[in-house]
Amino acid sequence: MSALTCERCGAPLPITPETIVSICEYCGYPRIIASTARLEEMYLIRSLSRDQIIHKFWDQVEKDFDLRRFRKRMQIVDVEGFYIPVWVGSVAVEGVCEYLEIEDKRVVRRSEPIAYETPIGFCARRAVAAFAVTDVIYHFMKTFDEKLFVRLIDLSPEEWERTKLKVLNTEIDVSEAKDRMLEDAIDLARHKHGTKTVVFFDARSMFMQEPRLYFLPLWIIYYRVGSGVYRMALAGWDGCRVAASEPVLLLRRAVYVAGVSGAIVAASFLGSFLHLQVAILGALLFILFSLAYILGRATVGGTRIEHLYRKEVPTARGTVAW
Ligand SMILES: [Zn+2]
Repeated sequence: MSALTCERCGAPLPITPETIVSICEYCGYPRIIASTARLEEMYLIRSLSRDQIIHKFWDQVEKDFDLRRFRKRMQIVDVEGFYIPVWVGSVAVEGVCEYLEIEDKRVVRRSEPIAYETPIGFCARRAVAAFAVTDVIYHFMKTFDEKLFVRLIDLSPEEWERTKLKVLNTEIDVSEAKDRMLEDAIDLARHKHGTKTVVFFDARSMFMQEPRLYFLPLWIIYYRVGSGVYRMALAGWDGCRVAASEPVLLLRRAVYVAGVSGAIVAASFLGSFLHLQVAILGALLFILFSLAYILGRATVGGTRIEHLYRKEVPTARGTVAW
């Protein structure tokens, strides 16, 4: 592969066979490799610094009722920040949905017009299943603010130097992204009528605003609690938690097991007054339960018990809308 260089600083550009737009690692200047999009319509969302992001992380731990109980045992093991290329535009969906409904014990056919406009985002990468990607796109569309971003061609090398992060490769061009977004917008519209008995559905989608390429900063903080490693994804521009895998309090489980053992102790006590054999049986059961409890704790201690923190994001195959 021939070496392509940055048109501003002359540094060699990071390129793979899939790359359609490359961002210079040294000065942040973009170069179109195989895209029909315009350089003037590519934007970088400014990110908080690594220290500010770590601060936001502890802030959110402090504010979270469940997480703050782990605070003293939490240890950050890694902090990773990168820019994700995302096409963001806005689509209008129009059409009609007919469905059946029961009214006064009779089946009635109803018709509802579909007419709405929504921001729509699509990750410009082939593998979109990565952690928190659709979540950060959704958060971006919700907090969309022109003060947050800068055109890549206007970004000074000095500013890039201050805020630069690894840039994930841009692999899907605007024409392909548009086809997918229009198709997925209809699926999402249909999904809104999911619980109804739909008998007829017809909708069209069109762009009200053509998609532009935005590079969204996403940070992932990996932290340890006991022997488990968990992660929190934060949006780079405001430090908001967009997705996370978090440790789960074992207290409830422990209380339950302890409660069962306690009941058996009580029963065996009571039994000793009633009958010796019952007392022996009770004591045996107590020992068995205690063993199960201790083993249970030991297993739990070595296993990763987590729950996923996510807001509900309306997506269809990587397309994110309202
Ligand atoms: Zn450069």
